[in-house]
Amino acid sequence: MNRISTKLALCFFAAVIILELFLMFYLHRNIIHSRVDEEFSRLLANGENHRDVLIENYSESTIKHIVLMENKNDREVMIIDSEGNIISSSDENNSILESYVPSVMKGKSETDGILISDYENSPYIVSVHPYQNEEHSGYVLMYQSTNSINQMVNELTMHFGIAGATSVVIILIIYAVLSKVLTRPLIHMKEATEKLSKGDFKVTLPYVSKDELGELSVSIQKLAEDLERLKKERNEFLASISHELSTPLTYLIGYAKVAMRKELNEKDREHYLSIIAEEAEGMKDLVKNLLDLARIDENSFTVTKEYFWSQPFLDNIFKLVESSFQNKNLKLNLQSKENFQIYADSLRLQQILLNLLDNAMKYSNNNTEIQLEAYKLDDRTVILVSDEGIGIPSDEIEFIFDRLYRVEKSRSRTYGGSGIGLSVVNELVEAHGGTIEVESKLGEGSTFKVMI
Ligand code: ADP
Repeated sequence: MNRISTKLALCFFAAVIILELFLMFYLHRNIIHSRVDEEFSRLLANGENHRDVLIENYSESTIKHIVLMENKNDREVMIIDSEGNIISSSDENNSILESYVPSVMKGKSETDGILISDYENSPYIVSVHPYQNEEHSGYVLMYQSTNSINQMVNELTMHFGIAGATSVVIILIIYAVLSKVLTRPLIHMKEATEKLSKGDFKVTLPYVSKDELGELSVSIQKLAEDLERLKKERNEFLASISHELSTPLTYLIGYAKVAMRKELNEKDREHYLSIIAEEAEGMKDLVKNLLDLARIDENSFTVTKEYFWSQPFLDNIFKLVESSFQNKNLKLNLQSKENFQIYADSLRLQQILLNLLDNAMKYSNNNTEIQLEAYKLDDRTVILVSDEGIGIPSDEIEFIFDRLYRVEKSRSRTYGGSGIGLSVVNELVEAHGGTIEVESKLGEGSTFKVMI
């Protein structure tokens, strides 16, 4: 599987290994160099000492003394004259020591110095120290066996190898742990989203942490809960809708059957037919509102705001509703002194006001008044629709904008209505970025205030 943790770990792994190799190489080189340098300077210092003593006091016993001092395992000394003849050596039978003499004679160096520094390939590193007094001249040669240096290098290489291998193992362990810690919640989330896509919204994700992964997990959990709520709401909504539609349809069928009776006189038939027409009209409104809601939900619904004048707009609405108000013996007063510019979608705003006025009309008693008032407040347009109707109980005000919510189901039969109008109003106002408020007193009337 092409897991994200694998990719992450591989990058991390490669970076650490490269860094480690680089550091190890650097350290390895430096340690060896400084150790070898130390050997060189020790060799040079000793050779210098012997040479000084020899110049000051050139005698058989001094030479013996020098040779005796260097009679150690890994260090040798040889004293030769200016012709290259060996005067004395700490290891008489060692031909290797002699083999360096020709190169001393060839160089004829006049100052102290390292003759052989290649500790990797030569058995000794060698320093040369020329001496000269009135009678004698020649060279003191100092030899340091490279065995110990090479041994040190080997040990160091081995230690570095062990350290490198250990760190690789540690990185592998870290990788295993990290990939578990990182991948497990991701796998949980993947499974959760798969369940969601199959329509199973019962998803529980364990708490992860307070980082991005945790946030993602919380978001998925919230998404699942939202989807479940939406599904429940949709089912309830559909159930209510079918109920809403089936009730008037039952009436329609009933009245149609009655109207079809042969023995019915013309007047009664007309009466029943007008009831049928009224019911059908109500259903048409309901379906239209439902379509609006569906479009709002689908987001295919757009609000195109533009500037238009308030006076002609309100006059038009007044004309549209005037006759139905008169039919119910209600008086509609338009209160808007100044003509100002409104910035909104005029068709949608008209729909909002028609819905509010329709409610005001439905829930008003005969011979009362209804006010439609509009004014400008700062940059916003305020429109009020007030009636002197039956009012809304205060504990139900918060629900009236919910879909299919009706105060007392029995009211709807008396007054008509399906509980959709105000939810459409609410969505439309929201789509405008506006607000809607209600004030109502039971038995005294209600005021709806739209601010856009
Ligand atoms: P409906 O189609 O039933 O009127 P609405 O969504 O428009 O549905 O209104 C929801 C409920 O709010 C209504 O059932 C009604 O009881 C109440 N309501 C709305 N407007 C008024 C009003 N002006 N006066 C009294 N009650 C109202």
